Formats: sequence, structure tokens, C-alpha cells
Amino acid sequence: MVAKGFDWGYTAQAGRQVEKIIRGKIVGGSSAVNAQIYLWGLPYDFENWAKAGNDQWAWESVAPYFRKVETDLDFEAGHGKQGPIQIRRYAKDEWLPTQRAFYEACIDHGFADCPDLNEPYATGVGPYPMNNPGGIRLSAAIGYLNPVRDRANLQILSETETTRVLFDGPRATGIEVLQGSTTGTIEAKEVVVSAGAIGSPLLLQRSGIGNPDHLSRLGIRPSHDLRGVGENLRDHPAVPVYWSAQQTGPGDIHWHQVGLRYTAADSPDHDDMIVYVAHVRDEPKLLMRPTVNLARSAGRLSITSSDPSAQPAIDYRMFSDPFDLKRMREAVRLCGELAKHDAFGPHLSGLTAPTTPILESDRDLDDWILDNATTGHHVCGTCRMGPECDALSVVDETGNVHGLDHLRIVDASIMPDCVRANIHATVLMMAEKLADQHS
Ligand SMILES: Cc1cc2nc3c(=O)[nH]c(=O)nc-3n(C[C@H](O)[C@H](O)[C@H](O)COP(=O)(O)OP(=O)(O)OC[C@H]3O[C@@H](n4cnc5c(N)ncnc54)[C@H](O)[C@@H]3O)c2cc1C
Repeated sequence: MVAKGFDWGYTAQAGRQVEKIIRGKIVGGSSAVNAQIYLWGLPYDFENWAKAGNDQWAWESVAPYFRKVETDLDFEAGHGKQGPIQIRRYAKDEWLPTQRAFYEACIDHGFADCPDLNEPYATGVGPYPMNNPGGIRLSAAIGYLNPVRDRANLQILSETETTRVLFDGPRATGIEVLQGSTTGTIEAKEVVVSAGAIGSPLLLQRSGIGNPDHLSRLGIRPSHDLRGVGENLRDHPAVPVYWSAQQTGPGDIHWHQVGLRYTAADSPDHDDMIVYVAHVRDEPKLLMRPTVNLARSAGRLSITSSDPSAQPAIDYRMFSDPFDLKRMREAVRLCGELAKHDAFGPHLSGLTAPTTPILESDRDLDDWILDNATTGHHVCGTCRMGPECDALSVVDETGNVHGLDHLRIVDASIMPDCVRANIHATVLMMAEKLADQHS
């Protein structure tokens, strides 16, 4: 839940339901409203990025930047010790009873104990690394912006919306902004767009960059044909599984303390699944949230009008690939098995969604998954990075928009695909690396 006025109010088609998509409308962006789970992307992810033509993004090139961002308060070897984002994990003796029960159930099911889920090839069950030392959120704004707010060459304009990028031929020369009802322009030697995986493609499209047929239909003069803008919409499709619980969840402690990362049956992709568990705050309910962490389904988004306040069209096409549905079906059943463990005995009184008959039928379970599919909140890929021969790529390896000058994108939109982890750590790593490439 995000406080009123701090969300962009987007909706999207997720499975069969139309869902609210939260995006932080605040300095610090979604890192100021997110769940603070801080997982590095996995080495396999960056092998894939490099294979797709992004040689500079292989694991050995990105690992130093993951370390540069963080100060890990729990582990020494292989971790950063001087970065602005402090990372901690809940110690075992702090785990809530249902988190402990989940851990025990996973271990007895045969999953590995994993004290550090940010070790590069870590797999199994363990405490989440979190960017909230002492329970205080350490957003990108707090970690990166607060220390430099006094700099003479930095001006932060709040309550200001960028409506278009301005050009002289192929060269970006500034932006058009809206402050209240007043439109103005800001000139710039270079424009770096960081409006996020929804905001950035929408901004490009409003500026005439995208599929010319689509833009012309909306009355926007196409200035640059780049068909990948808004395509390749990636996320982590999830589905909430509920049990009724003996007690209400506590309101004063973080929901997610422990998680399970594992590889789905017959999957060629290592560690392509994750399961969250949470005692629902102030309700007698337990939630497990199986999530496909490397989905094959991809969606798209686009503006529906030149008016920046118009609701965009966002369609995840979640579970459109049958392998995603198969992996989710098995994951929901795995959750059902884990919840039968004795350790959950004092806490749970029964599965409520899906019901047991639904769980037992492939067809009914598929239907239930499609009816209840939900975002993992990790939208990315909508201005994907890739070589110019990749027809759907939008930026090159340094974030420069193909075919245009002095225009870069630095945010989750340029990820070629989701990483097998919550994406905030990877977005910060990318920003550090791209800043180095241009300094
Ligand atoms: C509810 C929720 C929970 C999440 N939990 C986690 C988690 O636990 N762990 C994790 O790793 N990730 C999590 N995420 C995702 C993570 O926070 C984001 O992926 C990350 O912040 C990067 O997102 P982004 O690059 O898309 O941009 P954002 O962080 O969304 O930043 C974009 C910024 O641009 C601004 N903007 C957009 N359009 C315009 C415009 N036209 N003019 C001016 N400004 C504009 C926005 O207001 C925002 O400040 C969560 C996200 C949400 C919403």
C-alpha cells in the first residue's frame, strides 16, 4: 500500500484480471515504496545478457558494481564494504514463527540451507538480504541523493513531470516539463532518462520515438522509428496462495524474512523460481507467493494518447507461455506440500485459496492461476539493451538510444530480460556501471 499521491495510478492486464501497478511517484522512485528485499541478479542472467550481444554485461564485468553499491553488514568475502546501500539479514533468532516453520519445511523437503542468498550461485532457503539496516528503509534517494543535495551543479525539481524530450534533428536538446498547469522547457547538453520501466517508454513514445504507425494513429508525428519501445515487457509473474492462520500477522515487523530459491522440474534455467512467505499483516492469514523468476512470457505497453495524464495500455501477457503456467502449477503444489510440515501445525488451520479440489486438478489449477495472476512489481525490459541488429533493442550497451544523439536511458527499462532476483539491486548496479562508462 502506497500513501495517496505517491503512486502513478497505472493499471495493467495481468492474467485475466486488471490489476493496479504501483510505481513510486516520489524522489527515489519505486525504491522509496518497495519491499526492500535486496537480491543480486544471478551470474546466469548476465551470461544471457552477454549472449544477446551485450558483451560488456557479462558476470565478471557487473560483479564489481554490485559490490560497489553495497555495504554488507553480515558477510565479508565477495561483498562490498564501502557502498552507500547498507544490507542486513534478519538473524535466525529474530525470525517470526511462520518464517521459521517455512525454513524448517524447506530444509526437510531437501532444499539447501542458504545463509547468504547474495553469494553468486546461491540456491536454497535462507534470510533475504534487505536494504533496511535497523529496520530503516535505505532507498536510492537516501543512499545516493541525500549526501550530494548541496552540490552547486544539482537541482532537484519536485512536483515536475517531464512530458517530452526535445530534439534538433537526431540530437536531444532538452525536455518539456509540466509544473502544475504550466508547461516549460529545460535545455540540456545531454538528456538521461530514468523514468523507470513504465515511464521511460511512455516518454519516448510521446516524444515521437517508437512504432511510427502506432504514433501516427494517436496524432503524434513520428520522429524516429524504434519499434522496441514498450515491447519486451518483463516481470516476475506471481500468484498468492492463502491459508487461514491461528493468529493475525504482526504489524510492526517486516513481512518477508526468509525465502526459497530453487530450479523448477525440467527447467533449463537454474534457480528460475522463488517463493515468498508472509503472515498477512493484521489478518489471521498466511500467504505464500510462488513466483516465476525467469518467465518466458513477455508483454507490451504503450501510450493511448499524446496527453501525458492518459492511462497507458499495459498488457503483461502473463502465463501466455505454457512453460510459465506449468512451473507455476508445480510451485503452487510445492507450497501446499510445505504447508503440511509439522512446523506449521500450531500456526495454520487450512488452505483457503486455491481450495484442495482445485489444487488437485491441472485444468482447474491453471484457471485459478490465470484468475489470480499478479505482478511481482519488477517491471523491466521495455527499452531493452542490445545491438542494432536486434530489431527490438532500443539502447546500446552504454545506454545510448540507437540512432539518436545525446540521449541515454538508465533504469530498469534497458534490462534485456528480468534477472532471477528482485531487480532493485541490479538497477543500482547498472546505474553505477553506466556512470563509470561515461565519466
Ligand atoms: C510495491 C513494490 C514492491 C517492490 N519490492 C521490491 C523489493 O522488495 N526488492 C526489489 O529489488 N525491488 C522491488 N520493487 C521494484 C524496484 O523498486 C524497482 O524495480 C526499482 O525501483 C527500479 O525501478 P525503475 O527503474 O522502473 O524506476 P522507478 O524506481 O519507478 O523510478 C522512476 C522515477 O521516475 C519518475 N518518473 C516517471 N515518469 C516521469 C515523468 N514523466 N516525469 C518525471 N518523473 C517521472 C518516477 O516518479 C520515479 O521517481 C518493488 C516495486 C514496487 C512498486
